[in-house]
Formats: sequence, structure tokens, C-alpha cells
Amino acid sequence: MNLNGKHALVTGGGTGIGLAIAQMLADQGAQVTITGRRQEVLDEVAGANMTGMAMDVRDEADVVGTIEAAVAARGPVQICVANAGIAEGRALHKTSLEMWRNIMATNLDGAFLTIRESLKGMLGTDWGRVITISSIAGLRGLKGAAGYTASKHGVIGLTRALSEDYIGTPYTFNAICPGYVDTPIVTRNTDSIAQRAGISAEQARKVMTDANRHKRLIAPEEVSAAAQWLIGPGSQSVNGQCIEIAGGQS
Ligand code: NDP
Repeated sequence: MNLNGKHALVTGGGTGIGLAIAQMLADQGAQVTITGRRQEVLDEVAGANMTGMAMDVRDEADVVGTIEAAVAARGPVQICVANAGIAEGRALHKTSLEMWRNIMATNLDGAFLTIRESLKGMLGTDWGRVITISSIAGLRGLKGAAGYTASKHGVIGLTRALSEDYIGTPYTFNAICPGYVDTPIVTRNTDSIAQRAGISAEQARKVMTDANRHKRLIAPEEVSAAAQWLIGPGSQSVNGQCIEIAGGQS
């Protein structure tokens, strides 16, 4: 796949799944903008064709300004990967409105704002790919994580609606729905699941590996391989779909 000259934006591209996708895109020759709240994390991984720009996906003005600046520097975004997200879990009766809103603002508003601002330039080009990173929690209920589950169902709804809105255009909109992937989000979750359930971190990790029929966590590169296929020529007719990378979990 030759992505020479194509500008790709990956939110949350400094770590985990986003970083694996950003590296795959850079390897194919794309000019990649990676974003996240922590500039120092982005600076650590940025390279010749990967530029880090701090941006909080919850903040409309920040998203508008950052994507405008990225487009001015590297051209219209033609590959948009709305990946930034948080995974906070509580039983619903213990979920504060503040926590609920923060999950929605990050996972759902963040995807909306990122895609809206990317489309402004993409629609003037002859090819574009939008990929959202939902979750298997976007396809079924995840115990103890009603807010996360609702936000990830929303991300899939957004993706499907966009595939209808822009039907017949050279742009496709697809979601990837991973199971438990070996990234910092899972490391943080291991500790919080363990604390809440009164079990050890090792036992909590086993809950996650056991959910996968292959009894292991998924590698971020397995998710980026799906993104690579969705961007490549073999998937031109794939639109409005949810690709599960979940070891049979769902
Ligand atoms: P990470 O924690 O490594 O990645 C999350 C990224 O999102 C970080 O780079 C973080 O950067 C960024 N981010 C979080 N909040 C904001 C914000 N307000 N504004 C901008 N950036 C933000 O975990 P993953 O790589 O695993 O997560 C990536 C996506 O994959 C998420 O949407 C997650 O829900 C999804 N996913 C992950 C699964 C897993 O098991 N790992 C399973 C299913 C889905 P920073 O903190 O610097 O802002």
C-alpha cells in the first residue's frame, strides 16, 4: 500500500492502539499527525513523517484549531482515525454525572468533533477513509461499564450514519471493535478492576485473558492490521461495518 503524500490523523496516537496504527501509516509513507493531551508522550514517538500535536478531543475550540493547523502544514486529512478514548467503569448506581459526561465527552463527542473537522478538508479530495475505534462494548453490554458501553455503542451509530450520509462518495466509514488489547488502558483497568472486586491484579488480568477464546490479550498490531486492510484497496466496498478483533469474545 502506498500512502505517499496522504495526510493521516490519529487521535490518541501516542500510545497503544493509536500508536500501532500511526506507525503502520507512517511505514506506508503517509504524513501522520498524532494527537493526545500529553505533548511529551507524543514527542517521544514522533519521527520523520509523524508529528505530535497536543489536543484535547473534549474541547471543540482545541480540536478545530489543531486540525486547522495540521491541515495547513500537511494538507487535508484523508485518513482519519478517531481512536482517543478512556475506559472508566462503575456500576451505574455508583456512576456520577461528572464521570458519565467525561466518558461521553471523550469517547463520543471526541469522535464527532475529530471526524467533523477532518471531513471539512477530506470532502474536497477524491479519496478518504474514516475509521473509528469502538469496542466489543459497542456491540454488547460490558458488565460494570454502562457509560463506556453506551459511548462505544454511540461511536458505532455515528460510523454507520456517516456511511449513509456519504453513500456513493469516495469515502468510507468503518468501526473496529477490539476485545482486550495489551495497552496502557488495560494496565490501568487491571488495577481498578482488581481494587473494585477485591482480587489481585493477576486475577483481574486473567479475567481479561479468559474472555478471549485464545486465552491471551490481543496485540495492538493485530488492530492496526485491520486498519491497514480498511484503508487498502481490498476493502473499497466495505462501508458502515464493525470489524471485531476480539478473539471470539463476542
Ligand atoms: P491508551 O490509553 O493507550 O490510549 C488512549 C489514548 O487516548 C491515549 O493516547 C490518550 O492520550 C488519548 N486520550 C484520552 N483522553 C483524551 C482526551 N480527552 N483528548 C485527547 N486524547 C485523549 O489505550 P488504547 O490504545 O487501548 O485505547 C485506544 C482506543 O481503543 C480507545 O478508544 C479505547 O476505548 C479502545 N479500545 C481499547 C481496548 C483495549 O483493551 N485496550 C478494547 C476496546 C477498545 P493522553 O492521555 O495523552 O490524552
